[in-house]
Amino acid sequence: MIYHHVHELIGQTPLLELALPTPNQSRILAKLEFLNPGGSVKDRLGQMIIEGGIAAGDILPGQTTIIEPTAGNTGIGLALAAQRYHLPLKLVVPAKFSQEKQTLMRALGAEIINTPSALGMTGATKKAYELAAQVPGSYVPNQFNNPLNPAAYQRTLGPEILAALGAEPITAFVAGAGTGGTFAGTAQALQAAQPDVYTVAVEPAGSILNGGPAHPHRTEGIGVEQRPPFFDQVRVDQVQTISDDAAFREVKRAARELGLLIGSSSGAALAASLAVAEQLPAHATIVTIFPDGSDRYLSEGIYD
Ligand code: PMP
Repeated sequence: MIYHHVHELIGQTPLLELALPTPNQSRILAKLEFLNPGGSVKDRLGQMIIEGGIAAGDILPGQTTIIEPTAGNTGIGLALAAQRYHLPLKLVVPAKFSQEKQTLMRALGAEIINTPSALGMTGATKKAYELAAQVPGSYVPNQFNNPLNPAAYQRTLGPEILAALGAEPITAFVAGAGTGGTFAGTAQALQAAQPDVYTVAVEPAGSILNGGPAHPHRTEGIGVEQRPPFFDQVRVDQVQTISDDAAFREVKRAARELGLLIGSSSGAALAASLAVAEQLPAHATIVTIFPDGSDRYLSEGIYD
């Protein structure tokens, strides 16, 4: 097969059974989203936001300036998609997020505007709307509240998992939540096909879903400052709160024992999957998502 454009390479990522000792002889199957061309699960969202926005008339090819708050991976996905339709792109990124991701966004043609780390994604979102008010013909997709976010995963990631498993039942679905789009959209697709799939959202310690105190964390890409609106459209059976230490321990183990170079949110997803396996009956099939790879966090000492 010969492909003709990088955009054709988004999605259809492999589902890998992890060769790890697991509680209760369960199987953990991980969707390797770091194999997308922009290196993360958010390539799917960038494509959906731009093409959906064009279809709705919110985005005019070659004209509309796209302005979006992002921790990085959505920015990279948007930059890939914006390039195809010749759309100027301004990304508002809290300064704390990895320099590698910011470098990649710039390489793909985006302009970066940094906001203070202490103001979090809420501060970046506010800044994005302030900029939009100053830039004529601009559009803020706002991934935190855009139905195209879960839709991207309901239409692509969920069906890919179901196709890979065929008739085989899925016992549990475990995925990290930042905007909550990946979790909600995928869980919706899985529950539509198999209503009894047990769904587990994963957050780092410092995120508020389980009611713990909000504080900074090293696990990047997941964690919420408020409950994602997308959670209203899906059944959330459990929230697993994973410490940074537990997430980074699994990141290192995945490299050493599985040859997998995963980011910290993938480490958290793996730690949560192992915890869930302990609660489930024997021979459970657990599906999880590895959203991105470790190469964009090397300067942050992900393997130190
Ligand atoms: N992991 C990483 C590395 C991410 O960049 C993101 C997106 N912020 C997520 C997980 C969570 O995805 P979502 O926003 O769909 O909840």
